[in-house]
Amino acid sequence: MDVFDKDSQPTLMELSELFTQTRQQFLGACLQRLIEQKYSYLLAQEYSPCPKCGKSCKSRRYSSKQMVTMQGNSKLDRPWFYCTDCSLGFCPLDEVLEISRKQHQFDIQKKAVNLSADVTFARASDIFKELSGQHLSDHFMHATFDAVGAQARQEDIIPSTEQIEKKIEQASTGQWRPILVVASDGANLPTRPKAKRNEKRGKGQWQEAKGFRIYVLADERIIHIASWHQIQNEAQFGQDLALAASRVDQESVRIALLGDGAGWLWKHMTACFPKGREVLDYYHCAEHIYKAAKAQYGEKSEKALHWVENTICRLFYAEVSNVIGGLRRMEPKDDIAKEEIRKLIVYLTNNRERIHYKSDRKGGYPIGSGGIESANKFICHTRMKRSGAWWVEETGNEMLRIRCAIYNGTYDKVFERYKQANLSQTTNFC
Ligand SMILES: [Zn+2]
Repeated sequence: MDVFDKDSQPTLMELSELFTQTRQQFLGACLQRLIEQKYSYLLAQEYSPCPKCGKSCKSRRYSSKQMVTMQGNSKLDRPWFYCTDCSLGFCPLDEVLEISRKQHQFDIQKKAVNLSADVTFARASDIFKELSGQHLSDHFMHATFDAVGAQARQEDIIPSTEQIEKKIEQASTGQWRPILVVASDGANLPTRPKAKRNEKRGKGQWQEAKGFRIYVLADERIIHIASWHQIQNEAQFGQDLALAASRVDQESVRIALLGDGAGWLWKHMTACFPKGREVLDYYHCAEHIYKAAKAQYGEKSEKALHWVENTICRLFYAEVSNVIGGLRRMEPKDDIAKEEIRKLIVYLTNNRERIHYKSDRKGGYPIGSGGIESANKFICHTRMKRSGAWWVEETGNEMLRIRCAIYNGTYDKVFERYKQANLSQTTNFC
């Protein structure tokens, strides 16, 4: 359609589409012009010091680079220098502009990875095209994601001491020190071994992503501080939790530790937060009670409901010994019931000191880790448990790291490290 034809009456949508189709060419050229103007001194440069030894080198020739940014295609003809002593070629303009070795520049890469953290690579490619008019293959999406994920480190993903301090301050309104909640748990993720091209995929297995979430309670609100999940063993989990703990001023808060009955998480939470008040997750605890009731009295029977209510009520008042005593006196209906009752006794005995919901409530402590459950669902399940998705452990962990970074508000920092490692003009000569 020719909008300039005086008989044409394009709609707003048609006009906007026309802009989308042409703005890449138009703005790409604008960007190129702007660079040429702003950095004319670098484009005309005849001599430049070698970035390694400092020797003055003469420009050999102009070298051309095709670049794609969010604005479209641009071309850069800039002088290229070569230091014979160091056998090193370099373009000073690339360093100033922080140009990527790839054709698609960092602004695009950053957005592409951010989008891929939420939807499949193929879908990310479609959406990107739809919104920006730029075609990025799903291979590009995947490769860039891998590259950024490989540079994503826990030290960057967990907010800094200063950032954490600020959030605690936000929560410090009353006369009491605010409550900092540390909740840990595991979530099973579908994984498969890495297969080479043309090789049959290995058999899949479920592996546990261990993670924690740290947040502060402010009146009715939750102020998120940090989430961290990785497919890893418990020793690594302990190290990771220790790093996060080292960034929290533990004297400025009251600390609540929340978890289900898994031994590994208590071992590390209490080591990292020795003054923390241990709280057995109420919902997990209740689940165990239901399970025993179901085995003994039948599902949803009146007797089962009555017993569950009674038991939970007693646990609420920290009468754990009473409950255990009652369980011991119970006459099991059959072998299944016997086994469930036995398991419940072990569970309650192991977690005896962590059951005191009434006084938790009184002190303003949380009794359920709804906080980590929802973070877990959001971080692990939404992207990781898509039907048919089986993750190679490495890629799965990259995905978890990037998602945590986005959730923690530290993605900029993570991307910055990747960028510095992938500049076209690198000052790292190793
Ligand atoms: Zn040199």
